[in-house]
Amino acid sequence: MPLVIAMDGPSGSGKSSASKGVARTLGLRYLDTGAMYRAMTWWMLEKGVPVEDGAAVAARAQDPVIESGTDPAAPTITVDGTDVSAPIRTRAVTNAVSAVSSVPAVRTRLVELQREIIGAGGIVVEGRDIGTAVAPEAPVKVFLTASAEVRAARRAKDLAADPGASVTVTRAEQERRDRLDSTRKASPLAKAAGAHEIDSTGLSLDEVIEAVVRLAKEHE
Ligand code: C5P
Repeated sequence: MPLVIAMDGPSGSGKSSASKGVARTLGLRYLDTGAMYRAMTWWMLEKGVPVEDGAAVAARAQDPVIESGTDPAAPTITVDGTDVSAPIRTRAVTNAVSAVSSVPAVRTRLVELQREIIGAGGIVVEGRDIGTAVAPEAPVKVFLTASAEVRAARRAKDLAADPGASVTVTRAEQERRDRLDSTRKASPLAKAAGAHEIDSTGLSLDEVIEAVVRLAKEHE
């Protein structure tokens, strides 16, 4: 398979920055699958679909048109033609996304879109189930981790504009989301067979990027 780099890991492990950096360094495309689950969740909330009701979510899973732009310098995400890159990062979406992403009909729909985009390869794909379910044949699989403290601090920084998002609140919400993502039945967050685990706790962003680029070059 042409180069596909699968980057999985829990929230706040630094996947997004590292994945974009690797894609830019190697001249590859970049796909943020988390943004697709967030876009689906944003749409469900907009339409008043009760997100804790799996059957209600499944019934609407085919309806939103979700489009992802794969330039790592300027990734985009639209739903029914509307740019949702900002609203998908709100706490309301963040706290509802695990419920929506646990619905098998949602996953089937989005995995199909993801595989279309991955196509012939030449892409860095970040998510929770890329190495285990979306592209298990990817030549390079990375499982990125970091300590709970570092992950919560990174998330709090992302949410700095949100007054309710203290480190303590963020950490509790993040632990809940990671627990839901790791224990759901459909494609839970897990380290794939053959994945290289990188603990980013004591590493700079550049060091993480270098480590992944090295792995990619070994596979050339
Ligand atoms: O990566 P990010 O934190 O933006 O992902 C948002 C949510 O989308 C995750 O908490 C998870 O519930 C879901 N997700 C998923 N599978 C993926 C990527 C994200 O279930 N491949």
